[in-house]
Amino acid sequence: MEVIFRCPSCEKTGRSPLDEETTDIPCVSCGQVCQVPEDAVGEQGVTRCVICRGHDLFVRKDFPQRLGVAIVVVGSIASCYAWYRHQLFLTFGILFITAAIDVLLYLLVRDAIVCYRCGAHYRGFDDDESHTEFNLEVHERYRQEAARQEANANSGGVDPDQNLSPRI
Ligand SMILES: [Zn+2]
Ligand SMILES: [Zn+2]
Repeated sequence: MEVIFRCPSCEKTGRSPLDEETTDIPCVSCGQVCQVPEDAVGEQGVTRCVICRGHDLFVRKDFPQRLGVAIVVVGSIASCYAWYRHQLFLTFGILFITAAIDVLLYLLVRDAIVCYRCGAHYRGFDDDESHTEFNLEVHERYRQEAARQEANANSGGVDPDQNLSPRI
């Protein structure tokens, strides 16, 4: 199994192998080490995020989106060309094959577990039934939490009271 994460300290993307024995995950860019919570990784995969320790995770197809888009684009261009050449049978043949390849890819691709809070990706674990599909409500909750934290951090940084010269 491996985890792909954004370092909480330097915000660079890193990846690291992960199994039940892993106790900490270092960032190769800045050296910051994330301690893995003891109950986070089990035989079934992750039960909570090892980066931000969040408990809310969802399952998503680990689909290479660029590849999916590329297949659709190539299929569309080829079918347009066939249409232009009045090859009706070929036009629909190409569209059908394009769709079939996308469906096949989707079925072949494995699942990834994703953390709602920090977006860490977990790959290469055994199929785990304990996580649910993406839920917009939970996502929105975390988005608002992050926005609030950012607002707090910003107002803390430029707090006008902090910049006043000391009163005599
Ligand atoms: Zn870092
Ligand atoms: Zn997380």
